[in-house]
Amino acid sequence: TSFEDFALNRQLLNAVADLGYEQPTPIQQQTIPLILGNHDVLGIAQTGTGKTAAYVLPLLMKIKYAQGVRPRALVLAPTRELVMQINEAIAQLAKYTDLRHVALYGGLGPKTQIETLQKGVDIIVATPGRFMDLYRLGELPTKEIKTMVLDEADKMMDMGFMPQIRSILEVIPTKRQNLLFSATFGERVERLSGEFLEAPIRVEV
Ligand code: AMP
Repeated sequence: TSFEDFALNRQLLNAVADLGYEQPTPIQQQTIPLILGNHDVLGIAQTGTGKTAAYVLPLLMKIKYAQGVRPRALVLAPTRELVMQINEAIAQLAKYTDLRHVALYGGLGPKTQIETLQKGVDIIVATPGRFMDLYRLGELPTKEIKTMVLDEADKMMDMGFMPQIRSILEVIPTKRQNLLFSATFGERVERLSGEFLEAPIRVEV
C-alpha cells in the first residue's frame, strides 16, 4: 500500500511527501480507510507507530470538503505536551490546506487561545480540563463538532479525566464519528469504547 492508494487529496499527499513518509505504517494502512468510510474506530497503538497521522490525515480530508461552519473536529489528549505534539503534526499535514487549528491547554492564561478561537478554527486539540474551562467561559462553539478523537484514552483515565470527558460529551452533538486510541486494551478501555463508540472497528498493531 502507498499513500496514493487512499482517497486523500493532493494537498495532503504533498505534505506527507515533504515529511519523507514513504509508505503508510500498519496502523495507518488499517485506520485511514475506516475513518474515511465514517466508521467509529478503536485503535490500540503505542506512540511511535504513526497513530497521530493515522487519524489526522483522514480527519483533514473529511473536514476539507465539509467547510463552512466551525469547528468540525475535537481531539482530546491527556497532557499539554501531547496536545502540542498533535497540534504540530496537524500543522505539518495541513500546511497546503487552509484549515485552521488551535491547541488548548492549561498552565497559562486563556487570552491568546480565546483570540485564536474567535478568529475561527476547524480543529480543536485540547486537554479535557482546558476545554471545559473555555466552554464555560462561552468561548467554544460545539454544535458543529462532527468528529471526536480521544488520544491516549488509557492515560486520560489514569489521570482521572473521566468526569471532564463525560461533561464534554454532553455538550457536543450526539451524532458524530468517534475515534479512540489507546496504548493498552483492557476492561476499562473496552467499557469506555462500549459507552461512547458506535459499532467500533477495532484495529490493533
Ligand atoms: P506517532 O506514533 O504518531 O507519535 O508518530 C511517531 C513518529 O513517526 C512521528 O515522528 C511521525 O512523524 C513518524 N511517522 C508517522 N507516519 C510515518 C510514516 N508513514 N513513515 C515514516 N514516519 C512516520
